[in-house]
Amino acid sequence: MDLIDIIPRFKVAVCLRCRLGLLLDKTYDRHLLRFHGLARDVRELIRQGIIEKEPSVIRDEMELAERVEYPILEPPLMQLATQYDGLACDLTGIDGQKCAYVCRSLTGIKVHCRTVHGWANVQRRGGSKAQRRDVQRPWREHVACQRLFHSGQLSGYWEVRPQEGLPATDVAGASAYHIYTKDMT
Ligand SMILES: [Zn+2]
Ligand SMILES: [Zn+2]
Repeated sequence: MDLIDIIPRFKVAVCLRCRLGLLLDKTYDRHLLRFHGLARDVRELIRQGIIEKEPSVIRDEMELAERVEYPILEPPLMQLATQYDGLACDLTGIDGQKCAYVCRSLTGIKVHCRTVHGWANVQRRGGSKAQRRDVQRPWREHVACQRLFHSGQLSGYWEVRPQEGLPATDVAGASAYHIYTKDMT
């Protein structure tokens, strides 16, 4: 299993080359065929390996919705790509909890703040450029973030807390790190 691994934290299969989550009964086959040209029997062999390693691996969107939650401020998972240009909402939700929304587009964070929190983007007229830039923006920039999928459920980003000097590891995934470094460097 040098191409596919499982993130123990989510029990989600990931393509280590694309650093992307795969649903075993849904996106797995298509991904391995289309992006890696693997023959059917090879795909099946790897699939069996995944199930052997983790019998309760997430298979479809329903299991994903039932069993997987967004992590909150954990170290990055080494199986997934980390982006450092995230924009994180700094507002508080109606439940009084700090909002955990993260995205990577200015339009996205503005729409989020406006629609979810009723934020009004008050543009100051006149004044210097610096003053105009001071208009309050309820989000933080350059936030480290990760995501599992490109679309569908759990395709949003979450903030991660990189640990200086430490490679990103998933506690139970220590062996996968080995595979990853061997494969990618
Ligand atoms: Zn891939
Ligand atoms: Zn928010």
